[in-house]
Amino acid sequence: MIPLSIIIPVFNEETNLVLLKERIFNSIAPIFKEFEIIFINDGSKDKSIYIIKEMAKVDNQIKYIDFSKNFGHQIAVSAGLEMCKGALIVIMDADLQDPPELIPKLIEKSKEGFDVVYAKRIQRNGETYFKRKTASIFYSLINRLTDVEIPNEAGDFRLINRKICNIIKSMPEKNKFLRGQIAWAGFNQSNVDYIREERHSGKTNYTLLKMIQLAFDGITSFSNLPLKLATILGFVVSGFSFLVILYTLYSKYIAGGAEKGWPSIMVSILFIGGVQLICLGIIGEYIGRILDNVRDRPLYLIKETNILD
Ligand code: UDP
Ligand code: MG
Repeated sequence: MIPLSIIIPVFNEETNLVLLKERIFNSIAPIFKEFEIIFINDGSKDKSIYIIKEMAKVDNQIKYIDFSKNFGHQIAVSAGLEMCKGALIVIMDADLQDPPELIPKLIEKSKEGFDVVYAKRIQRNGETYFKRKTASIFYSLINRLTDVEIPNEAGDFRLINRKICNIIKSMPEKNKFLRGQIAWAGFNQSNVDYIREERHSGKTNYTLLKMIQLAFDGITSFSNLPLKLATILGFVVSGFSFLVILYTLYSKYIAGGAEKGWPSIMVSILFIGGVQLICLGIIGEYIGRILDNVRDRPLYLIKETNILD
């Protein structure tokens, strides 16, 4: 066991890595003699892995895990958690949006007796209105739908201790939503404020599709409410349909002069068809995730690493 591990997922970050490493060393070296920085190369298409390997030749604190292809940010972090040896563990991005200078503050806070210290963004520079808005909608949705309270304005930049790391490692689910899993664990959690800077260089790798994916993983991991919603919707629509059936019978046999029929049939078929598809879709989201877990494929594949057991 060593005092500190820093876990950094990397996807096409060639222009950020050297500066990142320097800033981490500058802020950590005065406090810790022994620490490790684990870069997880998540199938980068650029020179990231070469740069990381060059850095590892010079500094033996630099560790790397080179994935066989792109597996995604949450899985890259999970691999880091799996293989790190630190008593304290910091998770951060490679693009310098998470300032390394904050790490000593996270550590200090943890010494007050906190198992999780997340970095809370009090200001976000250089992120689009769209990104901020969708993020805040997502957080209010997930906090309403689920029992876990996931702090708004906290990304994955955080410090956890060995106890929390072992708990996360013991969760077998394949669809990772780490900030939810960590919040779910409880214990003593606190936060430190910071200003989130713009990406140092390069562009965001979190496409809208990946964000939607993460949102679905977050909600389905922690809530069965959408499934119940499908059932409730089914009942409401059935009830409504029953009234329409009564009305139809009434107009045919009692009031006389039946409906011409076409519009009402179209409307009800389309409506019920739509609701059924929504419900099937919701059920499908959950079944897909059950399948992922039943299949039990490895979460990631490693091409190369310099981490020894
Ligand atoms: N990342 C990754 N795999 C991916 C996408 C991103 O490992 O498929 C890494 C990326 O290199 C960065 C972190 O995850 O270190 C956050 O990604 P990004 O900055 O693109 O997301 P944003 O800050 O825009 O949400
Ligand atoms: Mg970023």
